[in-house]
Amino acid sequence: MQKGQISVQTENIFPIIKQFLYSDQEIFLRELISNAVDATSKLKTLAARGEVNGEIGETVIDILLDKDAKTLTIRDRGIGMTEEEVNKYLNQVAFSSAQEFLEKYKDESSIIGHFGLGFYSAFMVAKTVEVKTLSYKEGSEGVTWICDGDPEYSIGTNDKTTRGTDIILHISDDSTEYLEESRIQELLDKYCKFLPIEIRFGTKKETVFEGEGEDQTSKEIEVDNIINNPNPIWRKQPAELTDEDYKNFYNELYPYSTPPMFWIHLNIDYPFNLTGILYFPKVTNSMEVQKNKIQLYSNQVYVTDEVKEIVPEFLTLLHGVIDSPDIPLNVSRSYLQSDANVKKITGYITKKVADKLNDLYKKDRAAYEEKWSDLNVFVKYGMLSEEKFHDKAVKFALLTNVDGEHFTIDEYAEKIKAVQTDKHNKVIHLYTNNKDEHDSFITSAKNAGYDVLHFDNIIDNHFMQHMEHKGTDITFVRVDSDVVDNLVQKDETKESVLSEKEQEKVLGLFKDNIGDASANVEVKALSPDDQPVVITKPEFMRRMKEMQALQGMQTGAFPDMYNVIVNGNHPLVAEKLLKMRSEDKKKDFVQHLYNLAMLNQGMLKGSALTSFINSSLEYLK
Ligand code: ADP
Repeated sequence: MQKGQISVQTENIFPIIKQFLYSDQEIFLRELISNAVDATSKLKTLAARGEVNGEIGETVIDILLDKDAKTLTIRDRGIGMTEEEVNKYLNQVAFSSAQEFLEKYKDESSIIGHFGLGFYSAFMVAKTVEVKTLSYKEGSEGVTWICDGDPEYSIGTNDKTTRGTDIILHISDDSTEYLEESRIQELLDKYCKFLPIEIRFGTKKETVFEGEGEDQTSKEIEVDNIINNPNPIWRKQPAELTDEDYKNFYNELYPYSTPPMFWIHLNIDYPFNLTGILYFPKVTNSMEVQKNKIQLYSNQVYVTDEVKEIVPEFLTLLHGVIDSPDIPLNVSRSYLQSDANVKKITGYITKKVADKLNDLYKKDRAAYEEKWSDLNVFVKYGMLSEEKFHDKAVKFALLTNVDGEHFTIDEYAEKIKAVQTDKHNKVIHLYTNNKDEHDSFITSAKNAGYDVLHFDNIIDNHFMQHMEHKGTDITFVRVDSDVVDNLVQKDETKESVLSEKEQEKVLGLFKDNIGDASANVEVKALSPDDQPVVITKPEFMRRMKEMQALQGMQTGAFPDMYNVIVNGNHPLVAEKLLKMRSEDKKKDFVQHLYNLAMLNQGMLKGSALTSFINSSLEYLK
């Protein structure tokens, strides 16, 4: 054995390698297996060109665990290295690139997937690294290289007779987790699941069945534990694939999840290279939606599932894989966001997603409408966050009314504008976010010939604001707000049953008995079928409060203002109330009508509610 010294220029990098990325130590396995895959792929390329003598035979990569010897070995049957190559690649190239990598990113914890630390990442978990290799080149002799974590290494020959390289890691005492089979299996599943060369991790038991029907017997056999699928479908042509293939692959990515609604196969090679499949999940299971993240690969090597910098945020609601060697992975996350290639990739994916949705909408509107409840958050989120997506989605985003009918934004404006336009020419979109609570308001609005939309997601508040901002002639108003009542006034001013004097009398009775200064009381001529007393809240005030609440601010700053509208045309007001003799009876009656209106708005609570119930019981006596 010969001794040598790795040319250390600045400081000893081994302690730094050890400490570096402490939390991401586990990437060493991906880095070493990637090298094994590269060496095997190179051999296959050479063989295909006729540059390898004889058959290349088996090319599987073995991961071997020896608990007694405390070693983890990565064995490939690739091109191997000659002594000259070991000197060049391990002592010089690999060393200096690891050194360069560390110098650059020593203080950076936000590198995507910590890609590119390479061979020397072995020293994060091993006290000694032993390489035994035999080159494919004819007449080569086996070479052993050993380094125990200081710049000194030994190199010599061995009698290895099989082509390829063994990287033997003598696991250090503080990294013994990498001697556990379950831990290694976990890492292989995470990083190596779709590597293009078969990877074997020991054997596993499999049950096989023999015979048919009653005679069927089963037995357990030992089979190779191949941990990866070397031909994932995202690398194939969409024309070769069936719906079943896509669904099966989803299951492979996220076992036991609800099947996806549909998917997009990404496949582009100019101006950048990118393949992948994005799935639209069903949002019925929000746990899964958050857990099943998009995975980023580089030539089938898993990099990360933190893809925020690479796909626009709203697309992170999708699932699936993106594979691109053109995403620069050994840079910091903040750099990625400004990278021109990444910007192009983001734009491309956004466009593809919008086109797919548009296709579905155009091809089969009924099917699209059925999926809308699962899609709507995604589409709205996209419209809010990406201008370009908004411009496309505005054609296929749907509004749903309380009867469950769907309309595009334009269709809906067309439907309601004849009756629901105010004096400023704004088309008033009435909505409810709680059908049960607003039931009486919805009924009144419908009786007046209006349509009411149903919004029930937190995002809808933002979406409405966004749409108001985008289109100057559209406004959203909750069905229990004061604006609705103005609309009623506008197009069909009802004749008042009451004389002016009577109206004043009614107003006086209510004002005196309500005793709440923040209430703005009015007598109006509504339809006799409407409620006798209606409480509405100013739309503007309510929104300000909602926004404050969303931002976690105190809601006290805006007073809780509301309008009390007494329906002068309702028989209980026009006839019964005015005909009452006793002032006490009038007082009770007014209080009761007012309480009913409060109850309808969900404003009657606590002791007020109890005494209302008690006085109602009195009435029934
Ligand atoms: P990179 O893989 O990015 O080039 P590494 O530090 O991981 O950097 O490896 C340096 C070089 O060592 C590789 O380019 C390759 O030539 C050689 N090498 C590493 N592992 C193997 C292996 N298993 N078989 C053959 N050559 C290898």
